[in-house]
Amino acid sequence: MRAEIIAVGTELLLGQTVNTNAAYISQGLAELGIDVYFQTVVGDNEGRIRQAIELARTRAELIVFTGGLGPTQDDLTKDALAALLGRPLSLHEPSMAKIEQLFASRGLHMVESNRRQANMIEGSEPLENTAGLAVGNGLTVDGIHYLLLPGPPREMRPMFDGPAKAWLRSIAGEDRRLFSRTLKFAGIGESSLEEALIDLIEQQTDPTIAPYAKEGEVAIRISTKAVSELEAAERLDVTEAQINARVGKHIFAREDIPLEDAVVRLLRGARFKLASSESLTGGLFAELITNIPGSSGEFVGGVVTYTNMMKHKLLGIPLAQLEGPGAPGAISESTAKLMAERVMELTGSDFGVSLTGVAGPAESEGKPVGLVYFGIAQRGKQTIVHTAHLSGNRNIIRVRAAKAALYRLWQ
Ligand code: ATP
Ligand code: MG
Repeated sequence: MRAEIIAVGTELLLGQTVNTNAAYISQGLAELGIDVYFQTVVGDNEGRIRQAIELARTRAELIVFTGGLGPTQDDLTKDALAALLGRPLSLHEPSMAKIEQLFASRGLHMVESNRRQANMIEGSEPLENTAGLAVGNGLTVDGIHYLLLPGPPREMRPMFDGPAKAWLRSIAGEDRRLFSRTLKFAGIGESSLEEALIDLIEQQTDPTIAPYAKEGEVAIRISTKAVSELEAAERLDVTEAQINARVGKHIFAREDIPLEDAVVRLLRGARFKLASSESLTGGLFAELITNIPGSSGEFVGGVVTYTNMMKHKLLGIPLAQLEGPGAPGAISESTAKLMAERVMELTGSDFGVSLTGVAGPAESEGKPVGLVYFGIAQRGKQTIVHTAHLSGNRNIIRVRAAKAALYRLWQ
């Protein structure tokens, strides 16, 4: 079933209100396995609302309205749809009683226009509004389903999640739902990932494969419509195997968890302890790790050795290493190595991680923005230093640097 959402309200067109209802409804419809093909926004104008409905009918079997169910003269959704369908409006008595009761209990005089909120288009099913007065409507005419929801999100959401979803299930007939699985990737960018899978992404209609990036990580969501979890799992497994065959070495999780979570789990499994020494990330690495509940079992702590003085005093790195003519400098492979080793020694951990580099906006020590060294020291092993050339603004570089260090640890 193809759906279109029509959000009604001049405030939306003026940009005074963000159309969050459309996002909320789209997500909810996707979970029900209903495809949203269009989202339309139209002002509080009866003629243009009619135009929007006429167009939507040519390309959708389900039209979901939000807004314009209120009492005032600019609330026109029901009037416009009723006129277009050639159906009269009638009062829904229980809703009317609720409105009258509310006004009476507050000792207020009810103006005539308040009755409008109890209006129903003939032949429609009432959808209860638990957070407000305007009753929702669900109706089917000539094979097209119309769902009318109020505008205020605090009224729309409970109506949508409760009575509207029940109504949608009843009209959808078969109960196919959307099932998704998320694969998380590290050490590969969104565009490289997409390139490696482009033919699969383009060919697949079910399951669908959708790559997306957020907060320095890349993920793929595989989704399928199925009647049961078992049926969905079988199909998702097939697609996952195809993806795994191509880029499997970059998959760090088969659920939507951040990389730091995967790293903490690994350390926990091996009973390893970790400490960090950070320069350009200013503690972001430690922040990410300690965001994971229970990580105190694996992460003993970290130091922010931002200045050369701190690298020298806290970690005992010789000043001659850090500054002066001919010194490698704070941003160097050899300093990254020392930072990682010293913090491991200092804390008696199994691993020491270090981050030093240039977050920008300007170069430092004559080294370019985005140049980052990560040291990974492991007890009883040779320290490894990785070099990365990261792009983005200052914040993005810092996040990417912290994530890249996590990736090296995970490897
Ligand atoms: P009311 O009884 O409040 O008049 P209504 O159903 O007639 O409700 P509107 O008048 O269209 O709805 O909108 C009321 C308020 O709800 C708007 O001022 C706005 O703050 C919010 N709203 C309306 N539509 C949306 C939307 N699509 N997304 C987010 N908020 C919305
Ligand atoms: Mg209104």
